[in-house]
Amino acid sequence: MAAEELESKLEQWKYKYLELLARDEKQTLYTQLLERSLGRLALVAEGIDSALDKQLHSLRQELRSQKDVERISDILEKIQRCISKMDESPQSSEASELLRHLLLSLTIPTESKPGVDNLLIQLKDATNQQTRQLLPDFVSLLETINSNAPALPDPEKARSGLLQKIGFKKRNIEITQLLCSMIDNLQLPEIFNEQLREIHAQLQSQPDKKNLPQIIDALTALINSLGAQAQLQQLEYRAFLATLSERINELDDLLRVTVKDEEEAFNKRQKIGEKVDAGLDDIYKQIDVASEPRELKLIIRERLTALSGAVEEYRNADQSRYYQSQLEIKKLTDRLQELESETKSLQDGIRKAHEMVRKDTLTGIGNRQALMDALETEYIRWQRYKHPLSLVVWDIDSFKQINDNLGHLAGDKILIRIAEILSTSTREIDFVARFGGEEFVGIFPATALAETMVLANKIREEISNTRFLYDGKPVPITVSAGVATFHLGDNTEKVFKRADEAMFKAKKQGRNVCVVEEI
Ligand code: GH3
Ligand code: MG
Ligand code: MG
Repeated sequence: MAAEELESKLEQWKYKYLELLARDEKQTLYTQLLERSLGRLALVAEGIDSALDKQLHSLRQELRSQKDVERISDILEKIQRCISKMDESPQSSEASELLRHLLLSLTIPTESKPGVDNLLIQLKDATNQQTRQLLPDFVSLLETINSNAPALPDPEKARSGLLQKIGFKKRNIEITQLLCSMIDNLQLPEIFNEQLREIHAQLQSQPDKKNLPQIIDALTALINSLGAQAQLQQLEYRAFLATLSERINELDDLLRVTVKDEEEAFNKRQKIGEKVDAGLDDIYKQIDVASEPRELKLIIRERLTALSGAVEEYRNADQSRYYQSQLEIKKLTDRLQELESETKSLQDGIRKAHEMVRKDTLTGIGNRQALMDALETEYIRWQRYKHPLSLVVWDIDSFKQINDNLGHLAGDKILIRIAEILSTSTREIDFVARFGGEEFVGIFPATALAETMVLANKIREEISNTRFLYDGKPVPITVSAGVATFHLGDNTEKVFKRADEAMFKAKKQGRNVCVVEEI
């Protein structure tokens, strides 16, 4: 595969990978939003029923911790059951709750407080039966409060709590009147008006305190008979439904947020969005027309079922999409890694090939191409920093003769040995190369002409002092060198030419010498 092709492929894979990551992030965010909404729904629905509260609590806990889909749907099912139960067995605590409310709204004289507190505790979560048994206590407590109520000079100031609300004016008000006022304040649905009127009339026509427990009992029975239909409860449900609708709206909004995603997800979300829409419309309509809380409960149950079903359906689909994209990401990551290592080895190969191209195959030092590149680089540096830059050209003396006498292989060994001497006798920043045949060139940055002459002569001497052996016999080898340096206005060709000419002069002077350039 060509490097460019690979690179462009790599880019494509990377792009895809990043795109998938972004999509994955969006989905995670979306799931989190759904979870949060479900959590909020659970919070909103709290306080209606203790069993329901327990399940809602579990739901919130689950959403906060494991987020196990199976467990969540299990809890949702339990919530459905709770609502059904609430429907089937109307709560029996309305009577006790009502009495508690009444007690709590009364202004209690200090001396009666222990008695009231005690009654409040007993009334808490009391059944109808228990409430009925507590009625005599309730009545006698009212009587005590009534008889102990102080006559205050300013009745306006003295009025508080329920007594104020029901228009308590006289100190010696009859307990029957108090109860009549309570009934008036009950605000029960119209259908119970007749029964209430009856009790009212009974209270007024029989102002005998002995009958009071029976009358209150009748009143309690009436309240109990309201059961799930109590308007109080209906109001609670209305409030609950209103908040629920609000939350469903929020959820609906959330469902629309990420609609821009891929088509499949888009369709799925639209479907769930439509379901929620339909549910919402229904709830809105029913809130206004339903007079029966039972109906409202049914609607809530249906909507909750539909909503949790739709949410779960979406979640399942979303999860499988999530796993799918995880798989794709994994595949892409693997492929990307493969491609990266492929690219790396390819780059290594290219670098090696590149190095090979710039190396002289026989001696292992730089070749002509490498020399030209290095010369260009050093020339640019010289132009910028104006540090001295010098050049040496070496040529083996009478090498043709050596070749002819000892053979080409011997000649090659000599070339290799000379390259070694050149490399080891120069600094890291210097650069030596085999320019061609038996000619070598050295570039010496930060080295002035005189210093370069010293260096060139040192190398020349070292070569001539080296014992080259062939068949155990010494072979004398010498080199001639031409030395030049960069002057103002110079370029690489000019300097090279002057060094070469100096080297020719050295040959003319009898070889094994170094000659400096002529300007
Ligand atoms: P001078 O002192 O004037 O430089 O004489 P010379 O013989 O060295 O010069 P000339 O240019 O006539 O000969 C160069 C010889 O170098 C010719 C060739 O046989 C030899 N030569 C060039 N490249 C190689 C090589 O790669 N290996 C070997 N063994 N010999 C080479
Ligand atoms: Mg030559
Ligand atoms: Mg030569």
